[in-house]
Amino acid sequence: SSALSIRQLTKTYANGFQALRGIDLDVAEGDFFALLGPNGAGKSTTIGILSTLVNKTGGSVQVFGHDLDRDPSGLKRCLGVVPQEFNFNQFEKTFDIVVTQAGYYGIPARIARVRAEQYLTQLGLWDKRDLPSRMLSGGMKRRLMIARALVHQPRLLILDEPTAGVDIELRRSMWSFLGELNRQGITIILTTHYLEEAEQLCRHIGIIDHGRIVEHTSMRELLKKL
Ligand code: ADP
Ligand code: ADP
Repeated sequence: SSALSIRQLTKTYANGFQALRGIDLDVAEGDFFALLGPNGAGKSTTIGILSTLVNKTGGSVQVFGHDLDRDPSGLKRCLGVVPQEFNFNQFEKTFDIVVTQAGYYGIPARIARVRAEQYLTQLGLWDKRDLPSRMLSGGMKRRLMIARALVHQPRLLILDEPTAGVDIELRRSMWSFLGELNRQGITIILTTHYLEEAEQLCRHIGIIDHGRIVEHTSMRELLKKL
């Protein structure tokens, strides 16, 4: 079945700039998909629409059959988004940030605490649980965003440049964590600047340029062409 289905998605910003010019995209359940493209291509705009931070101008979006217009809460329940920018309450403790997020999904506090421990441990942040988020390094904040995005156990996880500015050692450990999540059955879509990242992790790839999908192929086919 289909994890993500996007049809003729358009976005014109208030200043008249046409950031998306009719995006069509299908990602199958269980896939690990890379969305590549130069700066300004429209990747963050697409992710912004999926996370309901940006209003689309036209077209349709479905996540596991939940339509963004008709069933936004159903869509949100099966989707986790890791944005590019940190948007934490900087005085809230690392552990509490994850638990608070669970509350937005109506998850009981007892279950939320168990999951927060599980994900913070897996992401190497358990010993930082009592630190306010402003005390964390950039790499730690990125991992905290991933833990927070997983707490409601989404079937689709979308990450916008998850390893940008992260050193190679941490990048590798994040790759292995994401690979493990995917093997557990979570569909993953990420945007990246690093071709090596897409090559290591992803089975399928979409290339976006000037608000259009210009290529949609398997990683194997793409590597043959390079
Ligand atoms: P929307 O169409 O979703 O309402 P906004 O109009 O809220 O988008 O954008 C807010 C303001 O910020 C606008 O005036 C927009 O021109 C400006 N803005 C924000 N980011 C950018 C950007 N990357 N390039 C150009 N303008 C931007
Ligand atoms: P990418 O993530 O691929 O770098 P974006 O989706 O951030 O691309 O941006 C696509 C285009 O839309 C860029 O040209 C950007 O400047 C423009 N843009 C982004 N946000 C706004 C905004 N709020 N208002 C006007 N233009 C914007």
